[in-house]
Amino acid sequence: VLDKQYFVDVVKDLIKLAEDRKDYFTELDSAIGDGDHGMNLSIGFREVDKNLDEWQKESVNGFYKKVGTALLDKVGGSSGPLYGSFFMKFGLPVKTKGPDDGVTFDEFIEMMETGVNIIKKRGKSTTGEKTMLDTLVPAVETLKSAYEGGAAPKEAMAKAVEAGKDGLESTRNIVATKGRAMRLGERAIGHLDPGAASSAEILEVFYNHMP
Ligand code: ADP
Ligand code: MG
Ligand code: MG
Repeated sequence: VLDKQYFVDVVKDLIKLAEDRKDYFTELDSAIGDGDHGMNLSIGFREVDKNLDEWQKESVNGFYKKVGTALLDKVGGSSGPLYGSFFMKFGLPVKTKGPDDGVTFDEFIEMMETGVNIIKKRGKSTTGEKTMLDTLVPAVETLKSAYEGGAAPKEAMAKAVEAGKDGLESTRNIVATKGRAMRLGERAIGHLDPGAASSAEILEVFYNHMP
C-alpha cells in the first residue's frame, strides 16, 4: 500500500524538480521548440507550492485534482494542459477514498493508466510522435506487466523508470508529428524531446519515494 504521505512527498519533490531542472528542460526545448518548457513547469509547480499545505488535507483524488487544476490554469503551452489533465484525472480511480486513505499498488497502476490515457486523448497523440508519451506509455505498460509478472511494487516501478528512459532515448532518432518540433521536420533528429525528458524525471520521483 502507498500511504497518503507518499503522494504528498512526490508532489513536494516535483516542485523541487521543476526548479532544479528548469534550465535543462528549457535547453532541450530551445533546440527543437520555443525554449519555455522549464519555465512552464516552474510556473505551474510554484503555484502548487503556494497551496500545498492547504491541499494536502484532501484525499489523494482531491489533492491531485487541485495540483492538476493549478497546472492547467497557470501554465500556457502544451505541457500545462497535458500535465494538468494527467494530474486532474490521476486520482479518479480512488475517488471514493478519504483524506487519510492510502492506495493499493493495483490502484496506483490504474491511476497511472488513467493519467496517460487523458494525455493521449487531449493531445490526440500516441507513441512515436516525439512527445512525452514516448516516455510515459512504455513506462506504464512495463509497470503493469512487471507487477502482474510477480515483481514487487518498487521493483516494478524501477523497470517502468528504465522503460521510460529507453522511450526518452528513442525520441532522439525520430521526427515530431505533434507539438512545436513538428515544424522542424528532419532537423529535430538528434535531439531529445523536452516533454519526454521531464516525464522520465517525474517518473523517477514516483519511484524514489516508493517504499
Ligand atoms: P509548448 O510546446 O507549447 O511551448 P512546452 O514547451 O511546455 O509547451 O511542452 C512541450 C512538450 O509538450 C513537448 O516536448 C512534448 O513532449 C509535449 N507535447 C506537445 N504536444 C503534445 C501532444 N499533442 N501530445 C503529447 N505531448 C505533447
Ligand atoms: Mg515550449
Ligand atoms: Mg511555449
